[in-house]
Amino acid sequence: MLKKDLQQFKKKLEEEKIDIEKELKEHKKMPRFGTESTDPDQETDESEEYGNQLSIIQTYKSRLSDINSALKKISNNKYGICEKCKSEIGLNLLKINPESRLCKECKKKA
Ligand SMILES: [Zn+2]
Repeated sequence: MLKKDLQQFKKKLEEEKIDIEKELKEHKKMPRFGTESTDPDQETDESEEYGNQLSIIQTYKSRLSDINSALKKISNNKYGICEKCKSEIGLNLLKINPESRLCKECKKKA
């Protein structure tokens, strides 16, 4: 991979990381998140919302870990290599999804 491309992906990943960390902080600040409902009529809504919040946070966390692992690979010179088949992930896929761990073929199979 060209150094120029690598730098671009690194920048994108770092920006994304900052965004996600900010989002996670915002979600943790949500007043109703994690608090127990005292009104039984509200319970369903609350737990539904709680579930939604959790799944959003889960999604952010898993993206964050993908991003961290991609950044680590950049510093180890292993960026852009599929974790399953060890072939190149390909610039086109990385441009859409710079934190991708798998190549197109392995993604299809997964
Ligand atoms: Zn692969």
